[in-house]
Amino acid sequence: MFDAIVIEKPESGQTVRLTQLATQDLPEGDVLVDVAFSTLNYKDALAITGASPVVRSFPMVPGVDFSGVIRESSHPEFKAGDRVLLNGWGVGEKHWGGLAGQARVNGDWLVPVPEAISLRQAMAIGTAGYTAMLCVMALERHGIGPQSGDVVVTGAAGGVGSVAVALLAAKGYTVAAVTGRPSEAAYLTSLGASSIIDRAELSQPGRPLAKERWAGAVDVAGGLVLANVIAAMRYRGVVAACGLAASMDLPTTVAPFILRGVTLAGIDSVMCPKPDRMAAWGRLAEELDMERLEAMITELPLADVIDRVPAFLEGKVRGRVIVPINPM
Ligand code: NAP
Repeated sequence: MFDAIVIEKPESGQTVRLTQLATQDLPEGDVLVDVAFSTLNYKDALAITGASPVVRSFPMVPGVDFSGVIRESSHPEFKAGDRVLLNGWGVGEKHWGGLAGQARVNGDWLVPVPEAISLRQAMAIGTAGYTAMLCVMALERHGIGPQSGDVVVTGAAGGVGSVAVALLAAKGYTVAAVTGRPSEAAYLTSLGASSIIDRAELSQPGRPLAKERWAGAVDVAGGLVLANVIAAMRYRGVVAACGLAASMDLPTTVAPFILRGVTLAGIDSVMCPKPDRMAAWGRLAEELDMERLEAMITELPLADVIDRVPAFLEGKVRGRVIVPINPM
């Protein structure tokens, strides 16, 4: 038996509890993993609180990511003892996820943990950090480098934002960090941010075209924040948009696109093809400063997850929250 969080949805409404499951309770799959670490991402908070219809079948074990060691495998690429990680593919949404002692999954969804990093570091990075790297790769794919000009990261004190700031600063970019928590300025500077911008400055409707400031942007917020970022992009600037922490809306105009040649690059981590995942994880293991990563981590026992998740939706969580399950 092992501990697991289980979400159910009887007619009376969604419930969530910490319970015990057995291996035979797990869904079908060709790889059984002993979960070492899982994490909490914004999406896990939406799933566990039921604030948004993230979970598409019940009962559900939430947790969109995990790292662990394979116990049994009939998948040709993996064998017992291999260190693996998983992000997305609907895990924690329509297939049981990582907030449990074991997970049985489709081996095609697994990525080998790069040799240079531990199972704990893999989940300190987690889906948030892997998404941050996909954003960096999108900026590069569209021709943005450290010489192109300043870049801006929104939701900078959150999970995606923290890793994006650290990655971009390590590559030599001059990074402006947008945060709703000015009290986190020292933390953001320690990750490599050169300047701090109060989120309030970007939260009111602005002009379709503002002063040209940014060559690149990583946005986790959507809504007016993203609209104001787009309006302040320099000629041929590139915005990697991955989140909706502010809003699903995008109240913008075509002006930045047709007058400044701005590119809006959408980022999806869930169904991202495997070669891009492997590239992202390979680069994270090489390029992310592990001391800066350590500064982002809070550890939370599985037993405290249910009480803690509302803080994500209130924008009160700093950096990355990892959940040790069978630490290895
Ligand atoms: P997180 O750790 O909770 O960080 C979100 C951050 O956004 C907060 O820490 C806060 O940072 C900022 N924020 C909160 N409320 C805001 C508001 N009303 N307006 C503007 N900013 C606000 O979450 P995360 O795991 O990093 O995820 C961030 C976003 O990316 C979420 O929307 C998530 O769903 C999305 N995401 C998407 C993908 C994908 O595949 N596309 C993958 C991962 C995550 P400050 O206090 O510093 O402002």
